[in-house]
Amino acid sequence: MNFKNYIKPIVFVIITSCLAQKQKPSDVNYTILIHGGAGDIKKKMLTNAQEEAYSQKLEEALKIGEKHLKNGGTAVETVERVIKVLEDSPLFNAGKGAVFNHLGYQEMDASIMNGKTLQCGAVAGVTNLKNPIQGARIVMDSTKHVFLYGKRGQEFCIQKGATYADSAYFYTDKRWGQYQKAVKKNLILLDHSVGKEKKAFKKMGTVGCVVLDAYGNLAAGTSTGGLVNKKHGRIGDSPIIGAGTYANNASCAVSCTGVGEYFIRGTIARDVAAKMEYGKLNLKKSSIKILQKLIQLKGRGGFIAVDKKGNYQMQFTTKGMFRGVANSNGLLEVKMYR
Ligand code: ASP
Repeated sequence: MNFKNYIKPIVFVIITSCLAQKQKPSDVNYTILIHGGAGDIKKKMLTNAQEEAYSQKLEEALKIGEKHLKNGGTAVETVERVIKVLEDSPLFNAGKGAVFNHLGYQEMDASIMNGKTLQCGAVAGVTNLKNPIQGARIVMDSTKHVFLYGKRGQEFCIQKGATYADSAYFYTDKRWGQYQKAVKKNLILLDHSVGKEKKAFKKMGTVGCVVLDAYGNLAAGTSTGGLVNKKHGRIGDSPIIGAGTYANNASCAVSCTGVGEYFIRGTIARDVAAKMEYGKLNLKKSSIKILQKLIQLKGRGGFIAVDKKGNYQMQFTTKGMFRGVANSNGLLEVKMYR
């Protein structure tokens, strides 16, 4: 038998199996980051059970995101899906378990942005969208606008398929207790306490997600109940594109958490991207510069960011930030403390 006769089929088998390998969903490149708020998060202020609960939920959210990305899901879809998981958990100040405003209502804000198209959507002051991030996505996909607010905005989202939830759904005793305390002390609580009450565990519980998907596209999203005892009608940075959320394939995707007013004044999310676009800094240098700017502004909080190459940053001015990252190289990490 001539050896040459074997060569062709062998080469064919090698090439086709290589191609098949390449297309295996588990081989797609992706990076996903999440946050669950920043604040005075220190080890001694969390019980083991609380630490476990936060870790588990963050890990669950990351794994759901990863699964979606491995199956070919887009960055935008993944951001929405992952934020929904965190909104559905009463642990965080978003969706179920959102904080109460001065009048005792839960008014929620959210936004989402597609880094490929620069399309974006946001809702603010909504009270009955089970998942405010779903409302933001509907605004992005089903309107020519970027931002809808209040009852009318909410009505539109529900007409377009957003899930309605009664006020009772969002209520938790923990948040009600924080609100009562804040009202008594006449404070707008930039921080709020959970956990061991003697040593108040001060944190913010906004949630956010940034993603680089297998198609090389970026997306970002953020969702929050805002600040405890905030002025009714107050809108924070989370739904404001450029302040709390920003994504652009030309630079990076960013989601912020912290005292919103500072992030609005400093256009923090957009600045991280702008330093890369105009200043030609890499993600790390840009993130450090903008964190310094936030500190100069006396802002409290942090942000997560990812670029087109899968480089990522998790920066904060506070003692801690609930955060996590996973990527296609097998990294899966959840952290809380500095
Ligand atoms: N940034 C949010 C706001 O000011 C709060 C937070 O991140 O915890 O509404």
